Amino acid sequence: MFGNKRYRTLNQEMKKIFGVKVIKLSVNGGFTCPNRNGVKGYKGCIFCSDSGGGDFAGNPDISISEQIDEQIALLSKKWKSERYIVYFGTFTNTYGDIEELRKKYYEALYHPKVIGLAIATRADCLSDDVIVLLRELNDICFLWLEIGLQTINQNTADFIRRGYDLSLFEDRFEQLKASNIKVVVHLILGLPGETREDILKTVDYVSYIMPWGVKLHLLHIVQGTELETYFKNESKFRLLEMDEYVDLVCDCIERLPESIVIHRITGDGKKSDLVGPLWSLNKLKVISEINKEMDHRNSLQGCRYESKYNAK
Ligand code: SF4
Repeated sequence: MFGNKRYRTLNQEMKKIFGVKVIKLSVNGGFTCPNRNGVKGYKGCIFCSDSGGGDFAGNPDISISEQIDEQIALLSKKWKSERYIVYFGTFTNTYGDIEELRKKYYEALYHPKVIGLAIATRADCLSDDVIVLLRELNDICFLWLEIGLQTINQNTADFIRRGYDLSLFEDRFEQLKASNIKVVVHLILGLPGETREDILKTVDYVSYIMPWGVKLHLLHIVQGTELETYFKNESKFRLLEMDEYVDLVCDCIERLPESIVIHRITGDGKKSDLVGPLWSLNKLKVISEINKEMDHRNSLQGCRYESKYNAK
């Protein structure tokens, strides 16, 4: 058991490592994605919106250091902290000229309150040069890399247009692991055509490869995406209800080794653009329901243990 949570959260992990609260702030490095600029395709993954996942990131029209200052000013109204991790999470953040990448990462690291970087990318955007640069960063700051695997099911991966095979992911993941670079794997729960068993198979795979962290995303539909059109036209496809999602997430958490840091357990759509599921807007309620269900399961396990023990 981890504090008042039922799994290893990023907050707790940061507090354990640094002894103080560490806050993640999002900047927009002005990157694009090979799935959008025509190298792999123009349409992107079917769930990806025009913002490329950067709804809550800084303003790309100003410098990285200005974005950091703006975000610190904003976040410090809510939380006081002197330590920040800069999250490059919009589009594909290792996709670009290597010197340009280096410049942007170092600009973030030069900020006196920044202790590390979190970089979101795709497995097919981790060239040897990029891995060398990441190793260099890993030696001087707290670094983790986030990769959008979403699923190990190849049919689903093709359908969502992920654009690379599991074997490529495995290859890059092993290279990163061998370089002691922490990896956070993103999974999406509720993708079209995936059964509960498919989802749990992906979670079992992640448990086997043992990344440093996992993000469990609820599939949510954003306006203007191809997924929205599919959702409106495909009568057999439906979104998860909250109770189904809670049950599924708890199954995932139970299957993941305790040492894996769980960075996220739900989706985070922007209210004005969200098509569904609308219940996901009440993030606090979703998290509280997940915690309640985990407590319930833990208490049942306790009872099972007690009755077994008393029977002896
Ligand atoms: S890889 Fe990321 S940024 Fe690129 S299209 Fe897919 S979701 Fe969007």
